[in-house]
Amino acid sequence: MKPFLYLRPTRIKETVEALAAHPNAQLIAGGTNLLDLMKRGLVSPDKLIDINGLPLRKIELQGDFLRLGALARNSAVAQHKGVRMHHPLLIQALNAGASGQLRNMATVGGNLLQRTRCPYFYDSAFPCNKRQPQTGCGALEGINRQHAIFGISQQNASCVAVHPSDLCVALAALDATVRVVGPTGERRIPIGDFHRLPGDRPDRDTTLEPAELVTAVEIPVSPYTKHVHYLKVRDRASYAFALVSVAAALDLEQNRIKTARLALGGVAHKPWRLPEAEQLLAGQPVSEAVFRRAADAAMQDAKALEHNAFKLKMTPNAIVEALKQAAGKS
Ligand code: SF4
Repeated sequence: MKPFLYLRPTRIKETVEALAAHPNAQLIAGGTNLLDLMKRGLVSPDKLIDINGLPLRKIELQGDFLRLGALARNSAVAQHKGVRMHHPLLIQALNAGASGQLRNMATVGGNLLQRTRCPYFYDSAFPCNKRQPQTGCGALEGINRQHAIFGISQQNASCVAVHPSDLCVALAALDATVRVVGPTGERRIPIGDFHRLPGDRPDRDTTLEPAELVTAVEIPVSPYTKHVHYLKVRDRASYAFALVSVAAALDLEQNRIKTARLALGGVAHKPWRLPEAEQLLAGQPVSEAVFRRAADAAMQDAKALEHNAFKLKMTPNAIVEALKQAAGKS
């Protein structure tokens, strides 16, 4: 591993200044992804900025939203009374991710910023446009069963990797906002705009500007407190990334759906929200036939690669099952 300088700032302003002054610096919090990348030589910072001393751990209800500090640990969020009361979908998504030990280390900010788990990205024997733009994509010609079925166009075929976080799929369904601070001040980014499709910059996973730091995630208090379900389909029962996951949230009045929220994981370069399916569900009675129509509508733009055609069947089935579970009909 290449030697690096280690800094441990205690103030946000100092951290942003250090980031701005050292473009090849990396932030470290839980380190559950970054250390792997460093050990493999895929990331070699000159400076490692340890942000664990920043005051960003709080989890609190503030008026009509829940605020998760960027350094709040996954396990702390999953055990928080306010989260349990207002956003049980987040808890289901968090508990579906990684192992207990990793959840004790991983942070909310790290969840947002984790890199893809595409095996070709981690293996420098293969070309990878995300590791180094314009070099090619090992997955397009390789075994791409874990890869994307949405958001693949000619331009986006530069990278067909999927975003790995479970928490972010639930955050996408719940209309979260990411708060960031940078050299020019603070801004809020809707979660749907935070992660990006690869386009001609597959090396960039997010819309963060240089030297910007994620400080918190805010989730509006919503009616989705009871009829929610996070369904994760994976190769083994724990400590595996999603082949397909579904975050489903319903606001029900007796047997009728007032509104619905749906997002998918494991199928695109970013958490994949399903607005057409949500619209189709609104105002409809709770029934498997309605869920199936919504799931079929959700699949309109899906496109398989050589090895992941199974996702074209698995995904709508997972959507139907997640909706049934959310409605208490399974
Ligand atoms: Fe790299 Fe993306 Fe291709 Fe994977 S899918 S090898 S991350 S360019």
